[in-house]
Order: sequence, then structure tokens, then C-alpha cells
Amino acid sequence: MNDNLGGVITNKSGYLDVNKFIIETRKYLISRGNYKEYNLKSDNILVGKKHLKVGGWRTKYLIFCIGAHQIQSRFFSWLPFNLNKGEIINIEMNLELNKIIQKSIIIVPQNKNEYTVGSTYEWENLTHKNTRFGINKIRNKLDSIINCKYKIKEKKFGIRPASRNKRPFVGLHAKYNKIGILNGLGSKGVSLTPYCTKNLLNNILEKKMINKEINIKRYISLYS
Ligand SMILES: Cc1cc2nc3c(=O)[nH]c(=O)nc-3n(C[C@H](O)[C@H](O)[C@H](O)COP(=O)(O)OP(=O)(O)OC[C@H]3O[C@@H](n4cnc5c(N)ncnc54)[C@H](O)[C@@H]3O)c2cc1C
Repeated sequence: MNDNLGGVITNKSGYLDVNKFIIETRKYLISRGNYKEYNLKSDNILVGKKHLKVGGWRTKYLIFCIGAHQIQSRFFSWLPFNLNKGEIINIEMNLELNKIIQKSIIIVPQNKNEYTVGSTYEWENLTHKNTRFGINKIRNKLDSIINCKYKIKEKKFGIRPASRNKRPFVGLHAKYNKIGILNGLGSKGVSLTPYCTKNLLNNILEKKMINKEINIKRYISLYS
């Protein structure tokens, strides 16, 4: 590796395997009878005085956690999203790394000799595909860090549901107070979600205030 300036090791840090986490969480919820998969269309939501009707079900609250798709939704499209696209590659190389390397890009060890490398930030071209421009950006950075041949096995992309002031969107709708949102997590979904969820739940269940930095009330002037 090209680390002629050296580096630091962060001892107390961690990594969440998001795919595994989602699969296991889904299994857990299914085992409790608490999971249904449904492509929610905002037009299919009927707002009653005490309950909401969503498809064939009745529910007391509905919280939208639909990432970048939120900008097309009837209820919260007024929030100032600042979506951006990120690309990553999965590579294979003959190098044994047992640590995550962060140096402008991040190299995350997966299976033996397999690594995930990324990512990029793109605000203009949000097409739902990988681009040569994005992949080359990653490759150029990777080439400046490692002295080793590698093979790209897979290219991936995602749209980050970022907000304009880089703070999440948490709270209940100004007009429909049984409909909420947890979004705007940008590039920090893993670290921000527990805090934001707790804020929203405490607000709904115990009427506690949501931290004003993440509360959607800060943008109420944009709602008409
Ligand atoms: C390349 C890249 C690298 C990243 N790296 C990191 C990282 O290292 N650490 C980190 O913390 N974050 C990272 N992020 C950011 C992270 O992915 C996001 O913050 C996170 O995914 C946002 O979570 P979300 O649940 O709000 O939205 P999403 O993850 O987009 O999930 C929304 C879900 O809602 C579903 N949905 C949408 N519309 C509907 C509908 N109408 N009905 C039903 N379901 C619907 C979608 O199918 C999707 O499953 C990265 C993002 C990218 C693109």
C-alpha cells in the first residue's frame, strides 16, 4: 500500500453488514407477525379522524421511510431533499487486509480477497445506473492507494436521500398528524437511524420534543 505518510488506527469502531441486518430484521418481524411487504402508493392512503387506511389495513400511525422515493410522494415532497448518487465496486485482489482502509475512499474487506470499494458523490446525473465517470473516479483513487492488481467483479450504485442542510427529516406531518417521516439520512444511515428513530418514537409515545435540528418543523414555511 502507498502509505508513505503513515496513518492512524481507530480501535473503537465497527461495521454493520446492512444486508445481513435487514435480512435478519425482516425474519424477526415476520416471526412476530409484524411484517408485510407492500408497494405503498400515497393515493391509496385514506386519512380518517382516528385511523389511517392503507391498502386493506387500518393503522394508527404511518411512518414513511422510503428514502429517495419520498420526493414523489404526496405527503412530504415539500421537504428540501438534495439527492445524490453514489457508486461502489466489488473487487477481487491478492492482498490480505483485515482492516477497513479509509483514505478519501473506503476499502472494506468482505470475503477472502474480496473487497468493497467506494464511493462517489454525484448531484447532477442521478440516472439509475453506474457510469464510466464514477467507476473511473473510484479506480483512480484506489490506484493511488494500493500497488496491486485487482479485478472488478461487480458495480453498484445507490441514491442517497440527503437533505439540503445535511440534517435528517424527522417528525409528523403538519396537517396529518398520524403520518410521519424518517428520512434525509444522506450518507449516514447507519449511525443516524437509531437516534432519529428514538426521537420519533418518544415524540409519538411520550410527547417528547424532537431535537429541533432534525425536526421537519424547521421547514414548515415550505409547506403550503
Ligand atoms: C454508495 C453508497 C454508500 C453508502 N455508504 C454508507 C455508509 O458507509 N454508512 C452509512 O451509514 N450510510 C451509507 N450510505 C447511505 C445509506 O445507504 C442511506 O443513508 C440509507 O440507505 C438511507 O436509508 P433509508 O431507509 O432512508 O432509505 P433506503 O435505504 O433508500 O430505503 C428505502 C426503502 O423504501 C422502499 N420503498 C420506496 N418506496 C416505497 C413504496 N412506495 N412502498 C414501499 N416501499 C418503498 C425502497 O424499496 C427501499 O427499500 C451509502 C449510500 C450509498 C449510495
